[in-house]
Amino acid sequence: MNQNNNANHEIKMKDILYSPVDQSAADYVPALRSLLEKMTCPSSAGERVGIKVHWGERGNRSFLSPAYVREIVQWQLGRGAKPYVFDTTVLYSGGRRTAAESLRTARENGYDENYLGCEIIVADGSDGRSVTDITAHGNHFATVQVADVFKDTDAFIIFSHFKGHMAASFGGAIKNLSMGFASRAQKQRMHADVHPELIKKSCIKCGLCSEVCPTGATRQDPEEYPEFDLEMCIGCAQCIGLCPEVALRILWETDDLVFQEKLVETAAAVWKMIAGKTILINACIRITAECDCWPGHNPVIAPDYGFVGGYHPLSIDEASLERVGKEPFEKTHPGVNWDRQFTYARQIGM
Ligand code: SF4
Ligand code: SF4
Repeated sequence: MNQNNNANHEIKMKDILYSPVDQSAADYVPALRSLLEKMTCPSSAGERVGIKVHWGERGNRSFLSPAYVREIVQWQLGRGAKPYVFDTTVLYSGGRRTAAESLRTARENGYDENYLGCEIIVADGSDGRSVTDITAHGNHFATVQVADVFKDTDAFIIFSHFKGHMAASFGGAIKNLSMGFASRAQKQRMHADVHPELIKKSCIKCGLCSEVCPTGATRQDPEEYPEFDLEMCIGCAQCIGLCPEVALRILWETDDLVFQEKLVETAAAVWKMIAGKTILINACIRITAECDCWPGHNPVIAPDYGFVGGYHPLSIDEASLERVGKEPFEKTHPGVNWDRQFTYARQIGM
């Protein structure tokens, strides 16, 4: 990291805004509105603004309400900008594997263009091929492949749900910039070291892991334990996350910190493309054990804090973790080093 980057980083680290919620309030939108009023607007009149969100997997109940995204859209429209809302396709079966499925799921979850007041797009395109390779700096990737959103977008708003994650302990702005922008191939490169391992004494042979596996890597004969073909496994972790008996754990092919390092490298490459024209907002509410990709039971692990706004992904995630506390994540994901996202981001000069 050069001295100039250090100086900029120090300035950004200070620029954090907080809008706590009253947990007895029926509606948290006023708290978000109050945060937006204090934030620097990233766009000018007439500019196209991409609002990065996660509209939730089909069957998921912990995703952020579209009412918050609508508030951000209206804020931008009120300033004469031209906002659009976007997400990308995912690796696993469910409701977001293709653009058409994902847009259907968005509508089912209330993310409707008429309601939000702007266009909703799947940024890696209808066939997943609207992607671009950008330069990365770190130990794992020379380039990373992400949705091709840079050339026709003037500014970005990264709206992230701050919550737990089985392989990274928690996920916030860094994860949204990383997995959230990544092409399906890049998602695969990040997940490549994650595979399931069966704990036989916990398994009830229900067959759900075979049902949800998108590649056929999980096979199970009637009345038998499931078997996993790791050659076919793409590391999507659907089976691990959805097993009702927690009978599957992550078998790391490499050091478990590698996943987080790959996550950070991808986020850092994206951040280099959009820094200076981007604001970030973390919603530290409905803080669940796992991310909004899980269609199954996803318990709340910490009380609602509110909204945190900032101008750098590392500083906003650190501020969010400081407000929520590390204890809920340590308790939910014991043995997963939550700090690695931060130490590695610093190490590679994010
Ligand atoms: S989902 Fe879990 S309990 Fe069911 S068969 Fe698979 S490993 Fe066993
Ligand atoms: S075995 Fe599990 S982690 Fe591997 S592809 Fe199938 S569902 Fe995903």
